[in-house]
Amino acid sequence: MTHRVLIAAELKNLLEPAQLDGLDVTWIAADQPTPKGDWVAIVPLLSRWIGGTELKNLPRLRLVANCAVGYNNVDVVAAEMRKVIVTNTPDVLTEATADLTWALILACARRLMEGVDLVRSGRWTGWHPEQLLGLELRGRTLGLFGAGRIGQAVGRRAPPFGLRVLYTARTPKPAFERDTGAVRVEWSRLLAECDILTLHTPSTPETKGIIDSGTLRRMKAGVILVNTARGDLVREEALAIALEEGWLGAAGLDVYADEPAIHPRLLAAPRTVLLPHIGSATHETRRKMAAIAVANVRAVLKGEPPLTPVFR
Ligand code: NAP
Repeated sequence: MTHRVLIAAELKNLLEPAQLDGLDVTWIAADQPTPKGDWVAIVPLLSRWIGGTELKNLPRLRLVANCAVGYNNVDVVAAEMRKVIVTNTPDVLTEATADLTWALILACARRLMEGVDLVRSGRWTGWHPEQLLGLELRGRTLGLFGAGRIGQAVGRRAPPFGLRVLYTARTPKPAFERDTGAVRVEWSRLLAECDILTLHTPSTPETKGIIDSGTLRRMKAGVILVNTARGDLVREEALAIALEEGWLGAAGLDVYADEPAIHPRLLAAPRTVLLPHIGSATHETRRKMAAIAVANVRAVLKGEPPLTPVFR
């Protein structure tokens, strides 16, 4: 028996034909609306909203297999009410996203974009002792807001750079503390003490907008802010103003509140490194993410438990 399944068309090249055996696949491109019909599973990208209306239009749906670890594009309450399982793709993207977080930390600290622009512009006149001086990492403090899979992977890369690690999370992480010397602190202490703040929580009602004009003012002058989590953790206009005023040292962002739109003031702000949401974008990771999403579909349609449900 074949099962009718909707899969994001952008995943086609990342999946092997054998992974789709037994599935009657309808490919939907990101710019196509979610159709109405008798599909039993959907594998969406994080740009596709799956809410009450979409679930109502798919009355036979048994599973939303999100191709991302974050699932803020799915109304999980509406899904639960309809007994639709929601899965995500944790773990496989942890190291890739941690690497990209470090790319942003280093790019901000050492003013990489300004250096690239200078060379490309043809205005570089040669080595100068005071040219593009940046932040020395050794001896500074890295603050992690959220220390789950990705936050810890970022923190584990910090000791070789000579950084002290502070973190804020809902629960203590003893193994992480033992391995890295990281210290769990209250949010207010994290803000006050770090030289680099990286964000690693999901987007929830508690974390949305947590970086606003008030929190930015509570940080040390010159701090570097890096966000590879979700864009709506940060109030983009407030961030742009802090950069314009010179209060914030730099911002490295991979995610935005209203992707792919970026607040015009933030686009124009100085000392930013702005990436197009590529945290997990390595060949290996993207293949693994697609594979896990489809493996969840196959498991559920066989009557087995999902491999990576968002709620256990
Ligand atoms: P995770 O393992 O679930 O970790 C989330 C962390 O956030 C946990 O430490 C959790 O604390 C903490 N947290 C949640 N709510 C909090 C709150 N109100 N205050 C303080 N801490 C809070 O998730 P992950 O796999 O590391 O992924 C983190 C996020 O990264 C995802 O949700 C996703 O949005 C984003 N992401 C982005 C990309 C990209 O392409 N840029 C790629 C992958 C993931 P506890 O541990 O105490 O529960």
